[in-house]
Amino acid sequence: MKRKQAATTRLDISQEEGPAKIFNNNVDDGVIAFALWQNSCADGESLPASAAVPVSVHTFVPDKLAVLDDHAAGKQVTVEFKEGVPYCKECDDSAECLHVGFAICLEQKHARSILE
Ligand SMILES: [Zn+2]
Repeated sequence: MKRKQAATTRLDISQEEGPAKIFNNNVDDGVIAFALWQNSCADGESLPASAAVPVSVHTFVPDKLAVLDDHAAGKQVTVEFKEGVPYCKECDDSAECLHVGFAICLEQKHARSILE
């Protein structure tokens, strides 16, 4: 399988300045972004301030799709699940970008909530 290089925009941004621009757009960064988002939601009340979290959830349909608000990029990003595998529409159907990592965490959190 040919491996596509994920979008480099975020990397360019990170070299310039700003908060929460620590990302290289890979799955590990998605996991970090998810942790930040989850912490920001810990009180269960207020929506996360976009300045504090790089990514938050706009819409989530388990096993189908996740629409994420990418605050660092300033746009909405859709991750689709095809036969359980997430693909990011923003990053050229990448299966290993930040958004995919975030969506995987979201799926796992959902799966756990069913089991509990
Ligand atoms: Zn992506």
